[in-house]
Amino acid sequence: MELKLYNSLTRQKEVFTPQDPKRVTMYNCGPTVYSYAHIGNARAAVVADVLFRVLRYIYGEENVVYARNITDIDDKIIAGAKEHGVEISDITEKYAKIYNDDLAALNCLMPTVQPKATDNIGGMIEIISKLIEDNYAYESDGHVFFDVSKYDDYGKLSGNTLDALKKGDRVGEGEVARKKNSADFVLWKPELDGVGWDAPFGRGRPGWHIECSAMAKETLGETIDIHCGGVDLKFPHHENEIAQSECAHGKTMAKYWVHNEFLNMGSEKMSKSLGNVKLIHDLTKDWEGEVIRLALLKAHYRSELIWTEDLLRESKAQLDGLYRDKAAGTRSEKLDFSFMLDDMNTAESLAHLTIELGEVLGLLQKDPEDWFKGDTSADEEAEIDALVSERDAEKNKAIAAKKSGDKAAMGAHFKRSDEIRDQLKDMGIVLEDGADGTTWRRA
Ligand code: AMP
Ligand code: ZN
Repeated sequence: MELKLYNSLTRQKEVFTPQDPKRVTMYNCGPTVYSYAHIGNARAAVVADVLFRVLRYIYGEENVVYARNITDIDDKIIAGAKEHGVEISDITEKYAKIYNDDLAALNCLMPTVQPKATDNIGGMIEIISKLIEDNYAYESDGHVFFDVSKYDDYGKLSGNTLDALKKGDRVGEGEVARKKNSADFVLWKPELDGVGWDAPFGRGRPGWHIECSAMAKETLGETIDIHCGGVDLKFPHHENEIAQSECAHGKTMAKYWVHNEFLNMGSEKMSKSLGNVKLIHDLTKDWEGEVIRLALLKAHYRSELIWTEDLLRESKAQLDGLYRDKAAGTRSEKLDFSFMLDDMNTAESLAHLTIELGEVLGLLQKDPEDWFKGDTSADEEAEIDALVSERDAEKNKAIAAKKSGDKAAMGAHFKRSDEIRDQLKDMGIVLEDGADGTTWRRA
């Protein structure tokens, strides 16, 4: 089976060939854990999860190593801890758990490894020391910067040339005065509110980019097969990861770069700063996780996805149909993986979705009976079950009365059974009479 992926680094579709088919490696930039993740973040995670599942399908589950980090050092986290008078770990552990739970609700598999930035400070210090030693980085006023003028390939991922970057000089940043070139980026900065680690170049904390370089190396090695993330991370984050890792290790950092397009609300991207976010945590209260997952996969990952309620409604209807087929066991179409092998074309795959393919993509994971019962509390379910049994009993009594010729009793029992059916209908419950008795589902 030959998988083609669009490689953002070479800007073309390429046949994916892992360095070692017994250890296929992928890295995905994970969340900064200081608040709830939104559905745009979920798109990035679900795209990576689909890639993980496709790779596991092709190379075998035990042969794919997927690392998704937890960024648990960040100015916003430090500020949040200070504001609420709590430990940093209180915030990061809480939101890391919420992130994993939210994604589990969308049927995302846990990554093979989930390294935390705070557990990898040693690896970051090692890379920075090597970069200073080899003259790729310099110290300046308690900071360490990467000197972009020393790396000829700087800009190869994003296509940004140093000249263009000079023009876009972000004046006003506190760091500008300390840098040799305006495009130089920070590897290490002084401690903030007492948060810092000892290093040969001074007590401080890492910049964001170096965190990923160190965690990717630590968990997967110096050259990884696939690096993923949203398009917004291409520059500067991924460009800087490449610069640091390649200069420190003298090797290609990642062979294939896979970037997902944005999820937008109307004509605007979904982002916290625009205040138009829908949190995964809230959406899962109203919609089944699989409905949200299907909605996220309806567009090709390299196309923008416009998020609407209609998209969710369509996805729900499509899944209802597939679950009906799954329950009836009538449709056992062969798994057609051809669209997935062509740069993960989920849009086409979903238009031709079979039950088997759905299951590989993390859909149709439920028992159809549970699916149609939807989000029903245990108390509600007990009440419904009791009414359904009562109705069955009334129907049986009516049939017995008919046999014995007692028309009055027959009429009374049928009347009661109809009343119960109507009562359930008002509760949004539909009954289906089958050979093995009556089952119910949400309308
Ligand atoms: P962040 O927490 O902002 O670093 O984002 C985590 C991941 O979500 C990154 O891979 C981002 O590129 C991605 N991302 C953020 N916003 C969106 C969006 N609106 N649509 C798609 N991906 C996004
Ligand atoms: Zn990263």
